[in-house]
Amino acid sequence: MKIINHRLHRDDGTPYAFRASPHTGPTIKPRWLVMHYTASANAAGAINWFADPLSKVSAHVVIAKDGTITQCVPFNRKANHAGESAWKGVQWLNGHSIGIELDGYGYLGTAGPGKWKFGNKSIPDSDVVVATHKFGKPSGGWPKYPQAQLDAALELAKLLVREYRLEDVVGHDDIAPGRKQDPGPTFPMDSFRASATKQPDSAARVTPPAGLKTIPRFRVKTTLNVRSGPAAANATVAGSPLQAGTIVRGAEDQAGWKRITAEGSSVSGWVSAQFLEPVPAELFTVTADSLNVRGGPGAANPTVPGSPLTRNTVVQALEEANGWKRVVSLGAAQVTGWVSAQYLAPAVVPVSDVGQPANV
Ligand SMILES: [Zn+2]
Repeated sequence: MKIINHRLHRDDGTPYAFRASPHTGPTIKPRWLVMHYTASANAAGAINWFADPLSKVSAHVVIAKDGTITQCVPFNRKANHAGESAWKGVQWLNGHSIGIELDGYGYLGTAGPGKWKFGNKSIPDSDVVVATHKFGKPSGGWPKYPQAQLDAALELAKLLVREYRLEDVVGHDDIAPGRKQDPGPTFPMDSFRASATKQPDSAARVTPPAGLKTIPRFRVKTTLNVRSGPAAANATVAGSPLQAGTIVRGAEDQAGWKRITAEGSSVSGWVSAQFLEPVPAELFTVTADSLNVRGGPGAANPTVPGSPLTRNTVVQALEEANGWKRVVSLGAAQVTGWVSAQYLAPAVVPVSDVGQPANV
């Protein structure tokens, strides 16, 4: 499977079923994958519910028990699957995650062997595991996930982690503890997570050019003053404060302060480094013999000095829009501009080669 324009396709290019949910929001830059169960009678019921104007809920995909995948929301759009939630200091995960719903009945209560039911439907004992949720409760019956469903989910999870550079896979219960129980104890979260987030050996692994240095980038964690020098006694600069979520480029460090330039603006100065978190470098290699670098996200924009890039050039992604990525080429000449993302493949670069400030 592969992703084209944030929709799931088979390797032969045919799209997976798409049943649009109206419950979507703005474009997101997902950081996590959230696993759920539907707590419904079957996949069609969940897909219909997400399409129902009254439901107010949605997820990016629903995976049926036989592994059939139906997409309901493009992967780069906000869906309503997480609700009130928090993870790694981020609140309301809908704006920061992709949601996979696994068709399943959900927690079955304490009826006991021979008496498991979902509504009026009896569930055979062989399909149920008696277990306690990892957070201590509830204890009772949980339906097993069929292997075909888990296999489809893992293949998709690996693809999403790679394509969107997701940081981790979590359960709905992890981000809304106490309020949510899904995907529950029958979901093999530890092994699934380890497998989904492992970098495949086959991913366009490149040997980086000698001296390759990525551009250190950071995300501002809170409203943050930018000062003219590396101490709180210095005056703030024009454009200060930066808003939480702003991406900055880091330069020199001094006594817990870092000199930064905000991405996409000219705000530049010193900030207290404790309010910054590193943004992992997203590296790609050029897959075309000659790739034009343009001043904006579209073929109508003029090329920039240093364009075109040659095949196998390693670039670091800075932002994206409409199937284009703004990148900077890493190496001797640093060319910055927009390229069509279809001519880029993810590059895996050993961590030891990453991290020193580039001269920008
Ligand atoms: Zn859920």
